[in-house]
Amino acid sequence: MHIREYQEWVEAWDKARGWDKVLPAHTLVHALEEMGEVARLVLAWEGYKQAEDRERVRQELAEELSDLFVFLFKLAYQVGIDVEEALRQGQSKADARFPDLAEAIAEGERYRQQLRANVARIHEVSDGDASSARC
Ligand SMILES: [Mg+2]
Repeated sequence: MHIREYQEWVEAWDKARGWDKVLPAHTLVHALEEMGEVARLVLAWEGYKQAEDRERVRQELAEELSDLFVFLFKLAYQVGIDVEEALRQGQSKADARFPDLAEAIAEGERYRQQLRANVARIHEVSDGDASSARC
């Protein structure tokens, strides 16, 4: 399936049911609702709550991402955006922004070092809490 075919399918599916007759803001709220479901599952995937079956979480995440994409494609057709063309332009923008591969890799490493520093601070805070709790 091509991206434009999918967008056309979403629009035709909605129009056949009269579900295209809502404002883009309504569609955006639905997209945000789906994003919340995606967020809950990403937290579950990362172990926020124990006893979650990781494979089940992955399958649910696929479903919720699909739900989210439906509303994003719907929002696009409601305002006359061709998602395939928008993505093509996005690719060009990304290529122009990070043309130097070595520089982009270095930027990724800089960010991972920052993440490691953040995790170290979390350990310092939690170790501090543990030592103050013993006093
Ligand atoms: Mg959903």
